[in-house]
Formats: sequence, structure tokens, C-alpha cells
Amino acid sequence: MAGKQQKIMNGGWRGGPVPYGYRTVNKELVVEKSEAEIVSLIYNLYSKEDASLRGVCDYLDRHGYQREYRGKMTHFNDRFIAAMLDNPIYCGKYIHNKRAKVNKEICYIDGIHEPIVSAELWDCVHEKRKQCIKCEKVWDKDRVSLLTGVVKCPVCGDGMVHVVSRSVNKNHGGMYKSVHGYVCPNKGKHRYKICPFSRSYNQEKVDAAVYELIGRIGTLSSFNKMLEKEFDNDELKRYQEELKDIRKQIYCKESEKSRIGLKLDNLDVLDDDYISKYEEFENEIDSIYDDLTELENLMDTITDKISRLEKGAMAEEHIRKILANFQNIFDKMDCHEKKEFYQNLIERIDVFPDKREDRRIIKSITFKFPIVYNNKGKKEMGENDRFVYKLDCAKIGMTKAESHASYAMIKEYVMEKYGLKIHSLYIAQIKRKFGLIERQNYNPELFKE
Ligand SMILES: [Zn+2]
Repeated sequence: MAGKQQKIMNGGWRGGPVPYGYRTVNKELVVEKSEAEIVSLIYNLYSKEDASLRGVCDYLDRHGYQREYRGKMTHFNDRFIAAMLDNPIYCGKYIHNKRAKVNKEICYIDGIHEPIVSAELWDCVHEKRKQCIKCEKVWDKDRVSLLTGVVKCPVCGDGMVHVVSRSVNKNHGGMYKSVHGYVCPNKGKHRYKICPFSRSYNQEKVDAAVYELIGRIGTLSSFNKMLEKEFDNDELKRYQEELKDIRKQIYCKESEKSRIGLKLDNLDVLDDDYISKYEEFENEIDSIYDDLTELENLMDTITDKISRLEKGAMAEEHIRKILANFQNIFDKMDCHEKKEFYQNLIERIDVFPDKREDRRIIKSITFKFPIVYNNKGKKEMGENDRFVYKLDCAKIGMTKAESHASYAMIKEYVMEKYGLKIHSLYIAQIKRKFGLIERQNYNPELFKE
């Protein structure tokens, strides 16, 4: 052990997985030239002002760079590149105390191996990485993608994931506001599954449209018809009538039984036809018993059906309550509760793959309303107890969220139609001039996060 310690302190290779760009010869690192060129390229690409991990990945993909992994060629992914950029081994150093407790300073030891990038380049990249890691942590804490996994990729069908784009404001320094989107998790070519669909959907827009649509469902006749059919109240009434009728029949049979029983008791043993009469009455009573058993069985079946329908009526009321109070309840939730609420209520959201002229984004929302049987907060809910309803958005009016034209869209339109490049400030002035200014957000509180 002492020998190994000594070796480490002297800057020798300490063992473990060999970093990309190196091989081991006589238990020491030596540069693997072809890989080292890619390492150097990645550092140089990332050090550029507007470069991102994703951008570097895309560049490598576009230019056909791959790496060997477990005997197969595979694409570079952002996690691999992040780990590479964070490893000081490439500028000739080892980290000491990397996993030590916070109060112990991280220190670097000069290795005896040949560096691949210069110390200046590594420092520059390291600074940028520190900034990014800080930003990523801030987002994680404050922000949650509400519909992650629920919005489905129109091509491969997998649940879409969060993506954020940020860009440096070159005129005023700092960063522009981050734009959050939903994007296919298999986008690009560096994961096990490849999906060619690269469009990302603005989260603010999709979230706002879904919020609006849920607020509207309760008033849709197609929805109400389906809900009534699912929890049929007429059927409940029919069964209740039938049950009354059966009770009446049972009552009649019971009294008939006691009437015959009485006759049986009053028979005179000395009568000539005593035996034949006795048998006759007894047969009658037997047949009444048979009828009664049949009626009682029927009553059990119907009682069962009624209780199920009554539960259904409660479940229907529950679903109506969810929808009627949706906006009130939802607005008071924190972002984690909102996400959970959506994940429980929505099976999937399908989006249009292309940008449409009518600006619609959401094609349909499939709801899976929980069927809750009692309203004392006790849930008797099985996974299959769901009322599924697919809202076809083409059949209803457009949401405000989708119809809202962004400045980028207006710019694009003017460019296309008139070949003019216009400034956002100019659009704002025109809007103000024609009274289109500051359209009141229908719920400014909701997306404040
Ligand atoms: Zn996809």
C-alpha cells in the first residue's frame, strides 16, 4: 500500500478506468493520438463563448465522430463530454481529496503523464463549467417541468423530456431569459434509441394550453355525454325499481307460506283425506321455498349492481368536482403538486409534429380520471378504475395560449411576406399604437415560477 501511495504522490497513474485519450503502458498513462485529437477538439469547441454541451455533441455527431465503448462504436453524449471537461487529467493533473469532506480543500497533484490540453485551456473550460453547474442547480430547485413524460414524441412515441435553451445577450451582456421546452428523449444519435424528431415545444405555451383545456372540458357536451353513459343514472333507477318489486314478491310469498302453514296446522288427523291434503300443502310450501330462494338470489345480484352504480354516481360527482374546481385548486398548488396532479390525471398528450398555419400545437389529450368511490378522502382505487376520455382538440376552439403570436413568429411572418427584418421594439410600438398592447394574461399568477 505504501508503494502505491508513494506512486500517487509522485504523480503516477493510480489505476481504475483509463480516461479517454489515454492507454496504459507499464501501468502508466500514455497518450493515444487519435483519441487525444478528439479530446483537444472537444475542449476547444466548448471553450467558445456560445458553446454548450449539447452544441458540442451535435457538432461531433454532424462530423461523424464516435468513440469505442465495450467493443462497439457509439456517439458522444453530453454526460460523457461533461465528465471529460471536468477531469483535470487532461491538463496533466490529478485531483486529490475529490471525495473528501467539504472542509478539506480539493487539491491538484501534477501527474507524470503527458497532458492533452494546456493548463490555460483547462482553466477556461473549468470556469465555464462551474458557472453552468451553478445554473443547472438553480433550475433544478425552482422549476419543474409539469408535463414531462406525458407529452409524447409524434415520431417515436416516447414521453418528451425537459430541455432548456439559454443564449448570451451579446448587446447587453448576461443571459437572455431561459426558454424551457419539451423534446424527444431520443433526439440526436447518441443514445441507444435514435429518433429523427428534433422539434422542441415551448413549455410555457403547452402548459398554458393544457391548463386552459382542462378548464373547458366540464362544459363540453361530448364529455358530458360520455360521463353520463359511463355512470348511467337511469340504470340505477331501473335497478332500484326492480329491487322494490322483488321485495314485494318476497313479502307475498312469505305470507302465502304462513297461510298454507296455518292450513297445514289446522288439518284434522282423523280426516279421511288427511294424508293426501298434508302432502298437497307440503308440496306447495316446498315450491314457495324454491321461489323464495330464487328471489333472494336475484335480490343479492341487484343489490350488488346498485351499490356499484351508486359508487359510480359518486365517482361521477367526484370527476365533476375536480373539473369545476380545477383552476382554483391548481393555482394554489406548488410546482411539484401540479406535476403530480397532471401525471395522475393525464394519460398522454399528443402534439402536432409540424408547425401549423392555425398555430395549433396540441392534437389531443387523453385523460384518465381517477374513480374515487367515497368522498371521505378514503380512496378505493384500483389501477384499472379509470374513466378514460380523449379530448380531440380539433373539435373544439383554439386555446388563447396557442393562438398567441410570439414576436419571433411576427418577425418570421414579416420576413417571409415582405422580406423585411424588423426589430422587436418596432412590433411593440405598433402594438401599442393600435391598442393591441399588453394583452392581459388570463392567469398571470400561474406561470410565475
Ligand atoms: Zn422521438
